[in-house]
Amino acid sequence: MNKQAALDEITKEIEQCGVCKEGKIGVAVSGEGNPDADVVFIGEAPGKQEAKTGRPFIGPSGKLLRSLIRDVLGLDDMQDVYITSPVKYLPIKITPKPAEIAHGKTHLDKQLEIVDPKIIVLMGGVAAQGVLGEKIAVTSEHGKVVERNGKKYFITVHPAAGLRFPPLKETFKEDFQKLREVLATI
Ligand code: URA
Repeated sequence: MNKQAALDEITKEIEQCGVCKEGKIGVAVSGEGNPDADVVFIGEAPGKQEAKTGRPFIGPSGKLLRSLIRDVLGLDDMQDVYITSPVKYLPIKITPKPAEIAHGKTHLDKQLEIVDPKIIVLMGGVAAQGVLGEKIAVTSEHGKVVERNGKKYFITVHPAAGLRFPPLKETFKEDFQKLREVLATI
């Protein structure tokens, strides 16, 4: 089975998953992009616009993320990278609960195994928890690469935090400059 077909199978699993849907709004947002990407971006949970369309990061924080992917990294946000989140539906209370993040990890781990990127960009604490299964102090660890089980992870803030607090928008942009340097070495 090719990678896209394998990812499509996981999308079907997510769409049919009763645990994922419980206490959530809208349609499933599985992920999108190049199934063979070298770099994968992980957020938190879909927002309202994502839950209407089924596409990740198409609202305001997505515009910020996708513009930096294009303008700073020089990559195409549809063709060159893969974008997804640990939680696959919009939670009613917006902030996902630990059990929702832990459940999302079961689907996300399969997606990451298929794409098998060179580096995974963890945007915020939920992404870190959802992928590594551990708490990362994003305020002190952002802009750095951490390694776990021979895999590389780049830590940064979530773009929505950047939109709420202008200094974090600068942090997010500066981290992308660092990420560009990291990508040149891997
Ligand atoms: N925030 C996320 O973490 N994911 C999305 O898809 C949109 C906003």
